[in-house]
Amino acid sequence: MSEQSSGPAVRIAHLYPELLNLYGDRGNVICLKQRCLWRGIGAEVEEVRLGDPIDFSSTDIIFIGGGSDREEELVCGELVAARDQLFSYVEDGGVLLAVCGGYQLLGKGYLIGDERVEGVGLLDADTTRGEGPRLVGDVAISSPLCEMPIVGYENHAGRTTLGPDAVPLGTVLKGHGNDGVSGSEGALRNHAIGTYLHGPLLPKNPQLADWLISRALERRTGKPVKLAPLPDEEERAANAAVRAHLGV
Ligand code: GLN
Repeated sequence: MSEQSSGPAVRIAHLYPELLNLYGDRGNVICLKQRCLWRGIGAEVEEVRLGDPIDFSSTDIIFIGGGSDREEELVCGELVAARDQLFSYVEDGGVLLAVCGGYQLLGKGYLIGDERVEGVGLLDADTTRGEGPRLVGDVAISSPLCEMPIVGYENHAGRTTLGPDAVPLGTVLKGHGNDGVSGSEGALRNHAIGTYLHGPLLPKNPQLADWLISRALERRTGKPVKLAPLPDEEERAANAAVRAHLGV
């Protein structure tokens, strides 16, 4: 398949890759870029590291990965300082994917014992590190964004509770999701997604990757976008393998 690129490049901002990059999260960025290139759509990745200036004025997709509690504490100050930019970007239809630690930081905060890590408050979600065991394992959810179940891998101590203004990304079919009890997984606001699913998530869920790319291109062009289909044989097989293993 051609990797020639043409047209305006999709600009992907990868936030704090040096700190927030668990369980292959960087693969989500590689997947987004490659799915654009396969279709002849240009794509560029900008890595935004701690201390770098933040400017989302020409960004099409923001990606934030997961990290340890310590790493979340290291980035939370800068992320919260960018709150106004993040709010206006998402209100304007900007596309954002945040995984696990990144998801927790987009909520109101993360209570770790007596210490509270302040979040951006973009999602009506709040997280507490529970006394119970970490929530670990493969997971499958159903989501209105995709026909295929979304599959991934979760490993988190935090339990996230959604408030009345939050819309979950999906419903847990197998696994734990936001808190292991509510049956909800992730949160969605406009075109911003927070989710506990690592994997990396997007290579095994090509419909979700294309949902993000389509929304980004629609915002850029102001027109409805229908992406050229890709064969996705390996991607669908990977999704099916996780579902078979989970019995979903
Ligand atoms: N540190 C967070 C937790 O354990 C997030 C972990 C992650 O990103 N996998 O809940």
